[in-house]
Amino acid sequence: MADIDLSCKRVLIREDLNVPISDGAVASDARIRAALPTLRKALADNAAVMVMSHLGRPTEGNPAQEFSLKPVAERLSSLLDIEVRLVSDWIDGLTLQPGELVLLENVRFLEGEKASDDALSKRMAKLCDVFVMDAFGTAHRAQASTYGVAKYAPVACAGPLLAAELEALGRALDNPARPIVAVVGGSKVSTKLTVLDALGRIVDQLIVGGGIANTFIAAAGHNVGKSLYEADMLDTALSLVSKTDGSASIPLPVDVVVANEFSADAKATVKKVDEVSDDDLILDIGPKTSAAFANLLAGAGTIIWNGPVGVFEFDQFGEGTRVLAEAIAASDAFSVAGGGDTLAAIDKYGVADGISYISTGGGAFLEFVEGKKLPAVEILEQRAAN
Ligand code: ADP
Ligand code: MG
Repeated sequence: MADIDLSCKRVLIREDLNVPISDGAVASDARIRAALPTLRKALADNAAVMVMSHLGRPTEGNPAQEFSLKPVAERLSSLLDIEVRLVSDWIDGLTLQPGELVLLENVRFLEGEKASDDALSKRMAKLCDVFVMDAFGTAHRAQASTYGVAKYAPVACAGPLLAAELEALGRALDNPARPIVAVVGGSKVSTKLTVLDALGRIVDQLIVGGGIANTFIAAAGHNVGKSLYEADMLDTALSLVSKTDGSASIPLPVDVVVANEFSADAKATVKKVDEVSDDDLILDIGPKTSAAFANLLAGAGTIIWNGPVGVFEFDQFGEGTRVLAEAIAASDAFSVAGGGDTLAAIDKYGVADGISYISTGGGAFLEFVEGKKLPAVEILEQRAAN
């Protein structure tokens, strides 16, 4: 976008303004703030700016009020300190002036958005002189507003936020300072299997936490009691651990934090990893383990982090995540982090300043790390080559 003259042009910008809404108001505006530099630049260039985004998962063709971008328009207006009009009926054309910015109502209200319907993509493309794809968080989805429109717009290019994301993630993966340490937490191995597999090939140490670690602990032959783990993933976990072809070492927790129930006021008890009993739930890594992992992180050249290593939503099971988050922030390594709950943990422990790059993408971040081509980026490359 930086290379294109936007003055008096109709510029259609796809952002990812899919923010959490509670009681009709924006609960976290991180994604809105991430888009501001792009929007300010387009306004400063005197473009007529149309911003589009999705919000939540409405049924296509049914513009339910709970998925309206109205709260986003209000927040955007106060952050930019200008009036931001929310336009409901926009797909067949709208009037606006250079220097004006409007927000187009939820793209997922339109039939054909998710399937990247060609007719819909062409109608979007007709609205503008320049299409700017700036939504890294949805770049892994080939939809009308992320992909189809880029095929047909007179000009299609990447926005500064998307470009910065690709640059930072490329730096962590293409020519990384070693050792590379990855932290993969979260609830299930099955949802992150491809990323574990891909990272296992790239990184030097792969730290697993959360429900994922439970599956590895079970695979090592320990009792995990009532913990969240996946019995059908034990062989997969074992094969990841036992690879000897120069792939990552996967250090296992030596101690864990357990409780008898999954609740906000459950009592936390530290146990050795081989002392977990039948009615225990493992909800965090233990203090010896987090100290050892923090030590690995302190010596890293590059760190890739996705997923909390415990049920950090409850303070007594958040210590492992807090210690690792602080170790990542304190390390001199180039560090990238991504994932919805990972960002919530970064906020909770106030470590954002110490992390080199915080990705706005969850799924897109993981797919990029896995080495997959992001369709919305691929189409821009094709357009640039032609
Ligand atoms: P992200 O959104 O950053 O990709 P995930 O959605 O994969 O992360 O995982 C986050 C969830 O995993 C959190 O809600 C957290 O409570 C849960 N979790 C972490 N450790 C455990 C555990 N030991 N048992 C059950 N759930 C866990
Ligand atoms: Mg999540």
